[in-house]
Amino acid sequence: MSFTPHGKHLIAGTWVGAEQTFPSEPASGTSHDFSVGTTALVDQACEAAEAAFWSYGYSTREARAAFINTIADEIEARAEAITDIGTRETGLPEARLNGERGRTTGQLRLFADHILKGDYLDTRHDPALPDRQPLPRPDLRMVQRPIGPIAVFGASNFPLAFSTAGGDTAAALAAGCPVVVKGHSAHPGTGEIVAEAVHAAIEKCDMPKGVFSLIQGGDRAVGQALVQHPLIKAVGFTGSLGGGRALFDLCAARPEPIPFFGELGSVNPMFVLPEACKSRGTALGEGWAESLTMGAGQFCTNPGIAVVPEGAEGDRFVEAAAAALKDAPAQVMLTDGIAQAYRDGKARFDRRNAVQAVLSTESEGRNALPNLYETDSAAYLQDQELGEEVFGPLGLVVRTSSVEEMQSLAKGLEGQLTITLQMEDADTEAAQRLMPIIERKAGRLLVNGFPTGVEVADSMVHGGPYPASTNFGATSVGTLSIRRFLRPVCYQNMPAALLPEGF
Ligand code: NAP
Repeated sequence: MSFTPHGKHLIAGTWVGAEQTFPSEPASGTSHDFSVGTTALVDQACEAAEAAFWSYGYSTREARAAFINTIADEIEARAEAITDIGTRETGLPEARLNGERGRTTGQLRLFADHILKGDYLDTRHDPALPDRQPLPRPDLRMVQRPIGPIAVFGASNFPLAFSTAGGDTAAALAAGCPVVVKGHSAHPGTGEIVAEAVHAAIEKCDMPKGVFSLIQGGDRAVGQALVQHPLIKAVGFTGSLGGGRALFDLCAARPEPIPFFGELGSVNPMFVLPEACKSRGTALGEGWAESLTMGAGQFCTNPGIAVVPEGAEGDRFVEAAAAALKDAPAQVMLTDGIAQAYRDGKARFDRRNAVQAVLSTESEGRNALPNLYETDSAAYLQDQELGEEVFGPLGLVVRTSSVEEMQSLAKGLEGQLTITLQMEDADTEAAQRLMPIIERKAGRLLVNGFPTGVEVADSMVHGGPYPASTNFGATSVGTLSIRRFLRPVCYQNMPAALLPEGF
């Protein structure tokens, strides 16, 4: 089924066009024109979201769960059209779009179940102690309340799961917060059809129209106006460090600063401990190459850095990785800009004297071929830029002479989404020495796996110290992510008739 976008914004239940348009830049097929967002539309969407909050923020959990499940149903009802436009716009393969759609609807349904269970409210009660000496204690109750309209920015590399009705939107709607999405210019048609699904769910469930709006971009001023709008109470952002930092700074500089939950890039270091390198260096090199090239390396959890022992055993890891990467075919990148940024990132490595190319390729147009570089830990620690994400299938091997050197390297790392240990039982002592360090550096620690692939679950943490995220106490994946859009309120000596739902 082919989907032809109309190119309009969805503002509080109405599809609105604009005179000025921007063309989409699909990886294949026809380009379409999309209405450019304006600050006037931002204002309308935020006013409508605030108006909706007065009912939606006080709706029952059952009503919200039914609404969120209906969004999932409406997305499934448009499955073929979503995959059609999604594959054309992003260049991602059909199986990936289908899988990501399942993840997106599964995530919505998980949040519906989660709020029905009610434990996310974290209700607490300290009963009154009228006879306590020297002073009586009042009756105290606490519960988590939704905070108001939320701005959501999706990422180019997850056009469904981290976009229009992705994790941030699901968590905010589950919490009771209306959402204004700034559409991603890399997949505006995919954003439009998903917004259609949300729109249909709003009508079916008789929800207030302002509970969801989608404003297409085409002008950076739109996103900037959105995060600065006085009615917006928090921002969920997935994207680049540069974009995230710019918007975070705007949030902090507002007369009323608001939380900016930015999930940004990461190089996700993988430590290959000595015994693991000895016993399965070749297999680990091959496995790393596979993880590094998955989705053209366009994952925030891409394991861009492998920390590997010096010597023949480490050499086997590097040789196996290089051989596997050499055979990997060129893959289409999400946008022309991302493809250019990948080439620029490679050029940054080529300019470094302390870095040797193991596999150097020339990528053309929107295609990416893998690249592999090698350095030592002293050079890595001296050159901060080597630790910056290159979005794409580029790997850096850092050779170390001892576990102490691995510890120093770990101490020098910036905040990460994930850190992986490849280890055997005989590496346990070395791993124990690394654990206290890496726990301070990353949101998720893995053993004997690869970090690409983030389970949507109660225990998941997808976040980490800056620059992996702008708020290391939070996660953008999994049920805990709902806490970003809630705040605790204490009710003292409150009669039952005045207490909110949840007690
Ligand atoms: P991006 O270029 O930062 O774009 C994200 C969104 O922010 C877009 O809507 C973009 O608008 C907007 N934006 C960016 N800079 C802005 C600015 N200065 N002012 C106003 N709006 C701005 O990110 P991306 O290319 O989509 O995503 C790739 C990056 O995301 C990679 O670094 C990847 O590692 C990271 N990522 C992180 C996670 C995670 O969970 N941590 C997940 C996936 C991806 P336009 O539409 O106008 O471009």
